[in-house]
Amino acid sequence: MCKKLSFKLENQPSLDFKPQKPDSPIVSTKPNLRSLTATELTDSLAALGQSSYRATQLLDWLWKKRVNSIDDMSNLSAELREILKDKYELTVPTVVRTQGSQDTTRKFLLKLHDGRFVECVLIPASVGFYGNKSDRLTLCVSSQVGCAFDCKFCASGLLGFTRNLSADEIVSQILLAEEIAKDKVNNIVFMGMGEPLANLPNLLKAVELMTSHQGLNIGARHLTISTSGVVPQIKKLADHPKQIRLAISLHGATDEVRSQIMPVNDRWKIEELFQALKYWTSKKKQRLTLEYILIKGVNDDLEQARILAKRAKSVGAFVNLIPYNTVEGLQWERPSEDHCRAFRNVLSKHDVPATLRLEKGHDIDAACGQLRLREELSTE
Ligand code: SF4
Repeated sequence: MCKKLSFKLENQPSLDFKPQKPDSPIVSTKPNLRSLTATELTDSLAALGQSSYRATQLLDWLWKKRVNSIDDMSNLSAELREILKDKYELTVPTVVRTQGSQDTTRKFLLKLHDGRFVECVLIPASVGFYGNKSDRLTLCVSSQVGCAFDCKFCASGLLGFTRNLSADEIVSQILLAEEIAKDKVNNIVFMGMGEPLANLPNLLKAVELMTSHQGLNIGARHLTISTSGVVPQIKKLADHPKQIRLAISLHGATDEVRSQIMPVNDRWKIEELFQALKYWTSKKKQRLTLEYILIKGVNDDLEQARILAKRAKSVGAFVNLIPYNTVEGLQWERPSEDHCRAFRNVLSKHDVPATLRLEKGHDIDAACGQLRLREELSTE
């Protein structure tokens, strides 16, 4: 059976992937305290005979004081701390490698409690996510270890899918980045490793933890979920009450071109995808973004630009053009700057708002997964 037809969106157990050898055993199956929403935490403490005031104290330790040990929660009784330690854990990933500098985009490689690696990317306030000027501090977060979706231009797919990240592992990326930056992250993009909509339950919980005023208190409009086009989950997310933003990794304006580089397109064709996007725009006030990596000789034909313009107009989308950045081990090339401009000009002629970022080195979206890939290969 075609691999694409076997997509299972929650746990993806039937996808064939190359398993990673963890270099430390999985030590605990207890839930992490930081994966509980304020309501869940209050209910859990109530079941232990504790008042809602204790829940408020606990939330304060987790999200304001940000301790990483239950023993440090000094205003809770020793007895309650023991009960909490018995039921929950409070591990956080560790940063094992940093690439970039204080003033530029910084990529962090994180080691999880089971020895797996993921990465996140911090984009300073002076550089917007699309290369524009920005006063936002943006973090690009991962949602899975590896990825099953196998997009042909992406490093994350090269080692296959290993597992979903838990909600606490997703939000911990923000806590660690803020600790390093000594600043508040106020814009989140789910464009790191993994397909976020294939991990929807944990994604939605992470969204709740990020947006809750008892959690990280980031406005929902400052959260962008990027998907390769998982149609049923797009519809589910459209029904979610929060005004989160959506970006689609399109990378091809026709099925013929898109299927060459995105196997997901064999499962949900472009027409079906755009029906889901129309549903999204009927439910949300946020403008959609279509991401389009320009790959020489693959999807950069100007006819693709004309079709892309029509599709973008049909859902009122903004287009972000990203000239391809080389990924070690992959064969694709970047088109010339003149050709990239010509492609953008077709969109402009059709009155489609579009950005084109030509500078090199800002490789986070085209080459997510590279740091982790290097780490995995060096520890094999
Ligand atoms: S582009 Fe996204 S969905 Fe596609 S393989 Fe990479 S991480 Fe997965």
